[in-house]
Amino acid sequence: MVPDTSASSRIDELRRVALSKRRVYSWTLVCAAAIVLLSWWFRSPEDLFLAYVYPAVAVACMVLLVPLWRRTVPMRSMEMVLLGFGAGVILSRLAWHFHAPGSIEDRLLDLIGGHYWAVALLIVSTIGILDRYRGLLFGLLIITASAILAGSGLLMEASHSSVAGETVMKLARVHIFLIALLALVASVALLRDQLRSAIARAENWERWANTDPLSGLANRRAGERFLQEQAALATQNASPLSVLLLDIDRFKRINDTNGHAVGDAVLAAIAERLTDGARRGDLVTRWGGEEFLIIAPHADIEDAGRIGERIRREVEQRPMAGVQCSVTVGIAQHRPGEQPHHVVSRADTCLYQGKAAGRNRVMTAVEGAAGTDRAAGIDRETAAVIADSR
Ligand code: GH3
Ligand code: MG
Ligand code: MG
Repeated sequence: MVPDTSASSRIDELRRVALSKRRVYSWTLVCAAAIVLLSWWFRSPEDLFLAYVYPAVAVACMVLLVPLWRRTVPMRSMEMVLLGFGAGVILSRLAWHFHAPGSIEDRLLDLIGGHYWAVALLIVSTIGILDRYRGLLFGLLIITASAILAGSGLLMEASHSSVAGETVMKLARVHIFLIALLALVASVALLRDQLRSAIARAENWERWANTDPLSGLANRRAGERFLQEQAALATQNASPLSVLLLDIDRFKRINDTNGHAVGDAVLAAIAERLTDGARRGDLVTRWGGEEFLIIAPHADIEDAGRIGERIRREVEQRPMAGVQCSVTVGIAQHRPGEQPHHVVSRADTCLYQGKAAGRNRVMTAVEGAAGTDRAAGIDRETAAVIADSR
């Protein structure tokens, strides 16, 4: 894996999650409004709760869609509002079932065949929306509230008429089922959280294994893997692929004159410069001590020459961490089917020739007649043309 030095992919991921949540909550609200309206339509005349409260609930479901889509309320607060709203409606309907005039036994079918399913859904949602502990707590509160409502309703009924033992048992069984459901969902949430943290740890390890700590760039291991993949792709698609090997000139002297810490800062500043100037799809790696390798897919030797010259000029023109320095760049283009390390070694040969020719220059591997190379420097005139064409 190539280390991801930008936060943008993480932000994109969070955006995608927020959008999915918004969609799920919207459909839930629309379905809830539809169920509520259907129940209202087929209500029995004496059910005053359905007659007066349910139309208001349907309207509230539609109203809640507005802040959800206009994003006027943060998602976390919106989720709390939705949970609170759902719990409020479901528990007040439960209160009505147990405390409205009439026999609880007559409403058992409505309760067990219908309304307790809503209670169960609410319990599952709490653990999905809240974290494991809060979800468990909220779920227990809902079950306790439901048990209190059922118990108080049965007691009130028992005070003026008899209550069948079977009714009490059925309601007790429903609550035991709700507790079992909560325990099951909480266990699944525990597994989910453990899996998430294991994935996060594995990602951290992978990032750590592929990142150079000083510069934050991809390290050589990541670079070799990327080059291998890109070389295979370039051969398969007959597309160009070039590598640029950069070496800081007289870096030992920079260390000796300014100290190792400043040397480190220069390395980090150059790494940042290279990352900022990289094209989308290029990989900048710290190849060795003060050497960097840029792997540039879809760049032929001329494109790579332009990139190398731009970098050379920028380093030359702007002090890095307060130190005036320069780089020499060796460039080679991958040949179809060539082993990836060969293209790097051809770039290295050019780099070596650039050093021998006086440093602070870009040398490209020019193909010879029999597939052999000779290195060619970009002369000052060409460099000026390249600079103008940027
Ligand atoms: P040339 O122009 O020929 O490349 O000369 P040079 O001095 O850059 O090359 P040389 O290979 O002689 O020295 C490279 C120096 O880079 C030596 C080493 O101490 C230094 N170096 C390598 N890694 C680091 C690092 O992580 N931090 C610092 N501060 N210096 C480093
Ligand atoms: Mg070196
Ligand atoms: Mg050097």
